[in-house]
Amino acid sequence: MRVLIGGGSGFVGRELTRLLRDKGHEVTVISRQPGPGKITWGELESQGLPPCESAVNLAGENLMNPLRWWNESYKKDLFSSRIDTTKALSNAIAASSSPPHSWVLVSGVACYKPSLTAEYTEDSEWTPFDLLSKLVKEWEASALLPESVAKTTKQVVIRPGAVLGRDGGAMKQMLLPFWLGLGGTLGSGSQPFPWIHVSDLAGIIAQALEPAADAASPSPQVLNGVAPALNTNYEFTKELGRVLRRPTIFPVPGFVMNTLMGSERAVVLTQGQKVIPQRTLESGFQYKYPDLTSALKQIVGS
Ligand code: NDP
Repeated sequence: MRVLIGGGSGFVGRELTRLLRDKGHEVTVISRQPGPGKITWGELESQGLPPCESAVNLAGENLMNPLRWWNESYKKDLFSSRIDTTKALSNAIAASSSPPHSWVLVSGVACYKPSLTAEYTEDSEWTPFDLLSKLVKEWEASALLPESVAKTTKQVVIRPGAVLGRDGGAMKQMLLPFWLGLGGTLGSGSQPFPWIHVSDLAGIIAQALEPAADAASPSPQVLNGVAPALNTNYEFTKELGRVLRRPTIFPVPGFVMNTLMGSERAVVLTQGQKVIPQRTLESGFQYKYPDLTSALKQIVGS
């Protein structure tokens, strides 16, 4: 099948592209930069959807960009880079004379209110309560297809936790301090830490891109893109230290995180949610890395 990947040049997109090409699929990336195997967002808007059987959007300004201060312009970019690209793709799908059979948006678990006790499945009700949950609400809304198109195009929303892999995401920034023995828990450490190995997230996306087995539904199917293991930040920290054979004795207090990162953003590290991938498991998806030890050993050993 021909797959269109918005933001496919990034951390998750590179892994997904590798997986899809290995399965014999053809990939076209939508990017801000032209290049081989790519179209630009401007071309998508001016020329419409290129021929494809499925599409996914992964584009978005990095939430953990270490080079940017947490200010209004950064927040505006976080919103517009996700919502405008998702809207551009959903509009192009709606306007296409041969829309794809599946359309997948990868959003995030920030929609679920951080809690030490609540457990969230894909069926959990939620209403926006802070900046990042508002972002998820608007982002997912911008992916919705008109009912007439949703009859033939399967809509899926995947909400990943922190994506763990060697080449990007949180691990890229964490590995050096942990290697140097400077790692430690963030905030209290007791907060849940929903995570997924990048290879499993690519697998869940690839499965969602396949044609629907059942009749299409007007509302998107939601899948929590997290590993089934429920871990805390303390467990993650200790396991990473153990796998690297390094001490993890330098906790970073919550107020330091808030000062360095801005409290609206630090919340993804200093607080967390227990997220259960109920529908993902029910879909029959087989995780390669269901627990922290296997995931971290693969990442650190590779
Ligand atoms: P990346 O940070 O690697 O970015 C993906 C792509 O987005 C980039 O390659 C870039 O493509 C495009 N992009 C970056 N900034 C902008 C911008 N300002 N405007 C338009 N496009 C932009 O993302 P990941 O691969 O890590 O994540 C994929 C998706 O999953 C994102 O939407 C992210 O929010 C979400 N997610 C990721 C998590 C993680 O831990 N990584 C956790 C939860 C959700 P190009 O330069 O080619 O235009």
